[in-house]
Amino acid sequence: MINPTLLQRRSDELAEVGRFCFSRGWLPATSGNLSARLDDRHVAITVSGRHKGELDASGIMVVDLDGRVLSEGLRPSAETELHLMLYRRDPSIGAVLHTHSVHATVLSRLVGDTLELADYEVMKAWPGVATHATRLALPVFANDQEIGRLAGRVEQALRADPSLPGYLIAGHGLYTWGASVMDARRHIEAFEFLLECETLTRRMTG
Ligand SMILES: [Zn+2]
Repeated sequence: MINPTLLQRRSDELAEVGRFCFSRGWLPATSGNLSARLDDRHVAITVSGRHKGELDASGIMVVDLDGRVLSEGLRPSAETELHLMLYRRDPSIGAVLHTHSVHATVLSRLVGDTLELADYEVMKAWPGVATHATRLALPVFANDQEIGRLAGRVEQALRADPSLPGYLIAGHGLYTWGASVMDARRHIEAFEFLLECETLTRRMTG
């Protein structure tokens, strides 16, 4: 059984982070999806097609780690498997957030297979990073409407480097995660700051 108090708390957290990301322009036009772990078998995730600027707990539903729907009559995001793959492979992940920002979309179409991020103070937002002298080769995957296939490619990259804090999908957006909704939200903020720095640098330096 799912603890109803925990479900309510996680739903409220996801709704709040959805409204926050919408207000920052990172979740336009019902795009993106947000999830949080409930226990070792279940996840709370946004219902497909809900507007994140008006998100409340009624826009959050429950699926199990195999993708079975526990909230009758509701359809989860089409990208649910990209969330579930992360929860299945890493028990320390408590939340997964996926945004569709302008900077993630533009950069992911320009940079090829990886976006190099290095020597930014804000990279200390990630767990275990204590210095700005840090390099991250953020993977960029080709967009794919076959979500199981895309999840397989992401999983392969995570097997090669389990410390990856996120990834981009070309022309599409950013995935990142954390131990809690607040941790994942901090990672989104750090990534979006970095992506904006990178687009601005390219614009100013031609
Ligand atoms: Zn998406």
